Amino acid sequence: MELMSDQDRQRLVSAAGASSPTVVQVAVAAPVSDLFDYRPLAEQPLPEIGRRVLVPFGRGRRLGLVAAWQQDSRIAATRLKTILAYLDEGPVLQPETFELIRWAACYYQYPLGEAIFSALPVHLRRATTTTSKPRKGWRLNSTAKAADDSGLARAPRQRALLALIRAQPEGILETSLREQLGDCRSALQALQAKGLIASCLMPAAPATAIAATSVPATAAATTAALGGSPRPPVLNAEQRTAVEAIEHSAGFGCFLLDGVTGSGKTEVYIRLINRALERDRQVLVLVPEIGLTPQLAERFAHRISAVQAVLHSGLGEREREIAWHRAASGQARLVLGTRSAIFTPLPDLGLLIVDEEHDVSLKQQDGFRYSARDLAVRRAQLSRCPVLLGSATPSLETLSNASRGRYQHLRLRQRAGGAQAPRFLLADVRSQPLITGLSHALLTRMSAVIEAGNQVLLFLNRRGFAPVLTCHDCGWISVCQHCDARMTLHRNQGQLVCHHCGDRRALPIQCPYCESPDLRPLGQGTERVEDSLRQRFPGIPLARIDRDNTRRKGELERLLNAARDGDYPILLGTQMLAKGHHLPGVTLVGILDLDHGLYGSDFRATERMAQLLIQVAGRAGRAERPGTVLVQTRHPDHPLLIRLLRQGYGAFAAAALAERAEAGLPPFSFQVLLRADSRIEQLALDFLHNAGALVQTLEPGPVEIWGPAPASMERRAGRYRAQLLLQARQRAPLHALIGRLLPALRRQSNSHRLRWSIDIDPQESL
Ligand code: ADP
Ligand code: ZN
Ligand code: ZN
Repeated sequence: MELMSDQDRQRLVSAAGASSPTVVQVAVAAPVSDLFDYRPLAEQPLPEIGRRVLVPFGRGRRLGLVAAWQQDSRIAATRLKTILAYLDEGPVLQPETFELIRWAACYYQYPLGEAIFSALPVHLRRATTTTSKPRKGWRLNSTAKAADDSGLARAPRQRALLALIRAQPEGILETSLREQLGDCRSALQALQAKGLIASCLMPAAPATAIAATSVPATAAATTAALGGSPRPPVLNAEQRTAVEAIEHSAGFGCFLLDGVTGSGKTEVYIRLINRALERDRQVLVLVPEIGLTPQLAERFAHRISAVQAVLHSGLGEREREIAWHRAASGQARLVLGTRSAIFTPLPDLGLLIVDEEHDVSLKQQDGFRYSARDLAVRRAQLSRCPVLLGSATPSLETLSNASRGRYQHLRLRQRAGGAQAPRFLLADVRSQPLITGLSHALLTRMSAVIEAGNQVLLFLNRRGFAPVLTCHDCGWISVCQHCDARMTLHRNQGQLVCHHCGDRRALPIQCPYCESPDLRPLGQGTERVEDSLRQRFPGIPLARIDRDNTRRKGELERLLNAARDGDYPILLGTQMLAKGHHLPGVTLVGILDLDHGLYGSDFRATERMAQLLIQVAGRAGRAERPGTVLVQTRHPDHPLLIRLLRQGYGAFAAAALAERAEAGLPPFSFQVLLRADSRIEQLALDFLHNAGALVQTLEPGPVEIWGPAPASMERRAGRYRAQLLLQARQRAPLHALIGRLLPALRRQSNSHRLRWSIDIDPQESL
């Protein structure tokens, strides 16, 4: 770990003037944007930049982080308060990570102190450390040949466990294994019986500073510990081109790896990771979802001999802390994590990879609303290293950056290993009778596929039995009392459930309005389709995979493993089924209802629809068997849909980008969204009207003001919501305006009955 060198110190000092600095500027963990001046402790050297301190603040005391040194303060010397204590043994953030957070706080207009402390692991957000009793954990058996899981070919659960345990050499709590994989005690016992793992006691958490020296684990040493690895495939020409382009980039460079599902992107990652590790650099890999980490960790563990650390919200506080420190000390060479891992200190960072870069989960949707993908690019700049954004369906922003030459566009056009691309068919369902949402064309193909011993995957992004319950006599519909929305009928639970606020009501046996018993479900969700399929295909095992029946920990993993092993000829699910999972036996994918993606209220609706469709289609025909994707739609003439299915995602994206350019929408303009909500009707809208008026007085120049307007679903969970959109062709005038607007808004909005927030580069509107 690199502490500030004497030279740096000297530079800071001389920048501050002839005499040495006497004032410490602290970012305080409070919702304020300014730094605060403090006097250092008497008789002690100035605390290092990046060190935690305890300071008096208002009437109390707060945690803070040393942000800078100053020669003087604008505050009168008599009023300047003194720091109460220096915490830890040194800085907890290295200069580069600190700079990243500082940049992010400024860019996303979020209070610096809060940004810093939301980026730190939980124990560093507290002034003191709590101690707790040691708890049961597991680690690799030191005598075992750890990579030897050749005996586990038919035990995916044990393999997944082993990968997670291997990623935490200091041990992992049993509770966090269960957090990720569900009840896994029997699998743990099996692994223990095979001598692969041993139980251990995990000590309570100490608050430690990051180590002062880095400990690069040499590849040779760790390879020996892990045993041999399977022989890697020979890269095809496009993969080689990609690897070499990134390998040969000196310093910072941003690359888009644009390759269909199964084209060997992960293989490219693995090659690049190994090369970076050989040069003694650290690597950070970001994935959008926790669910994807065990799979990827396992695949990495097989092929990469470096010490891994996994960081995501499913881990216990203790493991996250250990992983964070191992990364910060340079001990962990490969860090795999979800979006917040972007803030992990990595002293030797030499490569960043963002997998599924188009995924909205990479953007934090509340509080500190940063985009981990965009920050990855900034971070690579700060570390002067390459960053690789990978996707089968790149976001239009990234594609536009590539076409402007800011990112280098690398393509993998073929599926690796000889697998064929799926074929798309459109089923026009306007005039056809549907049997609970299934067309005749789809049902016929399903029968054929099942008879041939293959698998069908049906995709319907709507859980529950039916999206609404109606009264046949008076027309009553099941609306939610707290939202401008309908309650979904969940027949298995015997309830009406609002998917927006979570409210539940017992299923009425008669109409609450006219007391008629003739209540009917309208439309279909996965439960209803399941019912109908079980009648039509009696005796054929079917797995429904949605949030309702995967609530139990480990259930999703179990169903997916069984699905992969071919146990279920019919798979039916929501977007949980769409991501990342290899289902080699699937030869037919049916998309039951695509239409609300075609005409959604958000201008990104078609982009999301296309990404989801291609991702779902990517599950099919991954092995030697080619797949067919049948799309049911009422809009078979939709030009973008046709282009997508006939010419592929690239052609779709080009056409969609042309539309955006025409309309002046992102990525051809920049946006900032001001959101507000309140329990009191009108309050949010009034606040935003004022905000709009305020913008006018600030001479907005080229910045356009749209709205304010109520959200498309105005009332949600009892709160009325509205938004005001600011948009400009250039980023600079927009951000400058926001910089002037925010202080004025903060002064105005002292009503605690109102909540409001600002979202820079919003990904979703209300
Ligand atoms: P993606 O990440 O793009 O979905 P993967 O890297 O997972 O693709 O590759 C898909 C499958 O093809 C994997 O089983 C992988 O081992 C295999 N594969 C990748 N590259 C090659 C290659 N050059 N030759 C043979 N098989 C390959
Ligand atoms: Zn009625
Ligand atoms: Zn509701």
